[in-house]
Amino acid sequence: MSPLLVIFAATFGAAAAGFLPRPAHRLAVGFGAPSRSACAACSRPFPAGLSGWVRAGAACPCTSGGLLTTLTGAAVAMVLAVRLGPSPRLPVLLLAVVPALLLALVDLRCLRLPDRLVATLAITAGLPLAVLAHAKVGTALLAFVGVLAAYGILASLPGGGLGLGDVKLAAVLALIVGFAGWPAVIVGVVTPHLINGPIALFLLVTRRAGGQRPLPFGPALLTGALIALTAA
Ligand SMILES: [Zn+2]
Repeated sequence: MSPLLVIFAATFGAAAAGFLPRPAHRLAVGFGAPSRSACAACSRPFPAGLSGWVRAGAACPCTSGGLLTTLTGAAVAMVLAVRLGPSPRLPVLLLAVVPALLLALVDLRCLRLPDRLVATLAITAGLPLAVLAHAKVGTALLAFVGVLAAYGILASLPGGGLGLGDVKLAAVLALIVGFAGWPAVIVGVVTPHLINGPIALFLLVTRRAGGQRPLPFGPALLTGALIALTAA
């Protein structure tokens, strides 16, 4: 482990994550709705074009926050750098942290995992990993198809609490983790349930969920994939 590498990764993670509150705020909308054109809190319109998406720190000058997102980005990048070391997989996965964190933020806000973000994650991580670990392409594709089918069945069960976004993200993460082999896939499939199960139970016991608002599953899926990629 090179301290310089870890510092560089953490700096990248923090810097990239620092720009995520604005796009997360704009993308956290209901199904089929266009992205937000103005701040939900103060109604100040966002500038048109790219500049309306780029802001470091909080989503809008009217709010504070963004520190937790920045720290999470740094921590995730640091864990990847410590565990993977100077591997060609490291820059690929560091870049994938950006759409992954954005997905977690949007899911926490509005229980949605927008297709274009899931597709961005699949392309930014899946294609380079397929080049780097071409011997494992078969494993990754099998993991993708297997998880897609299994989660598709789970989502079709009444009261399963899984949405189609969860199904697609779980399959894309199985693909990404699949390049690390089957043990990683199994960890990646099991861990999200070990994370969300106790949280769901806690919410049920304290009646905070009230049976109304389902628990977002995206953050647990993403955390499970991170653990699968770094624990082995
Ligand atoms: Zn505002």
